[in-house]
Amino acid sequence: HAKRRENSICPYTQTMRYALQRRQLMSERLSAAISEQRLQLYFQPQVDLTNGRLTGAEALCRWHDAEWGWVSPGEFIPLAEERGLIRGLGDWVLEESARQLMAWGTQNKQALPGRLSINISAQQFADPELTQHIAQLTAGVPTNAISLELTESDFMRDLDQAVEITHAMRKAGYALSIDDFGTGYSSLAYLRRFATDALKIDISFVREMLDNRHDRTIVQTIIAMAQALEMKTVAEGVETQEQARLLAEMGCNEAQGYWFGRPLPADEFAAMWLSPA
Ligand code: C2E
Ligand code: CA
Ligand code: CA
Ligand code: CA
Repeated sequence: HAKRRENSICPYTQTMRYALQRRQLMSERLSAAISEQRLQLYFQPQVDLTNGRLTGAEALCRWHDAEWGWVSPGEFIPLAEERGLIRGLGDWVLEESARQLMAWGTQNKQALPGRLSINISAQQFADPELTQHIAQLTAGVPTNAISLELTESDFMRDLDQAVEITHAMRKAGYALSIDDFGTGYSSLAYLRRFATDALKIDISFVREMLDNRHDRTIVQTIIAMAQALEMKTVAEGVETQEQARLLAEMGCNEAQGYWFGRPLPADEFAAMWLSPA
């Protein structure tokens, strides 16, 4: 409770002040980058574990700052949420995703097979009109070309609203997956009420799965649970062939991870993954 003088030289206070200043500066620069449309979208392949074929992709937001270089989404996404920038960012991600899907075409041979997965943050999910809003921002793209990713905690905030929105989304034709599954508190009973298509097994379980018996059991249980509820499973963060093989053996349907492919800018993604027209 000791009072500190304004110009205290306590190193802890200095570090805190510096961190706060950096966050303030970062939110100003991020805000400018969003409104000047200087963010980028990268695309990471999702593959069928039984045959290695492309089943879709996840759109991942990237930000390159002139002075700082690439800033991790792990840093700027939570900041955008905290500073009220996530709706603007999320709207841009939806528009840019739609623009890219249309550029690849929905009919021709270079079209993305399956669906493009788009991350939706809790604050976007709090909008009861979210489904219509998404449809407006992605006008021109069939709803069956889009899958929306939400985390468990987003669902748990307001259960009744979550049930309502997820049903509206499914009715409109969007697919829905629960991201980072296993890190939250969903119970089987809740899972049944949300009309979700897929569970994305969190990277932390996949990472430890080969060495840690408990993590392996968790992965196995998530797959069994999904099967019982007629949902698909997608494993995140698959980095090795051993992980891919074990997941396939366990009955996991799809995977995403560096073993199959890193997130890439649209043109590189298309050159590597989409067959030429
Ligand atoms: P996420 O949705 O769980 O996305 C998966 C993250 O795992 C991505 O990190 C991806 O690059 C990374 N990843 C993929 N394969 C591997 C692998 O084999 N090993 C490892 N270690 N990592 C892998 P990224 O792109 O840094 O994004 C971090 C988080 O930021 C995302 O986690 C998501 O929560 C958020 N995010 C990214 N883009 C958006 C966006 O457009 N909107 C929203 N709301 N959130 C986004
Ligand atoms: Ca995701
Ligand atoms: Ca995830
Ligand atoms: Ca995550």
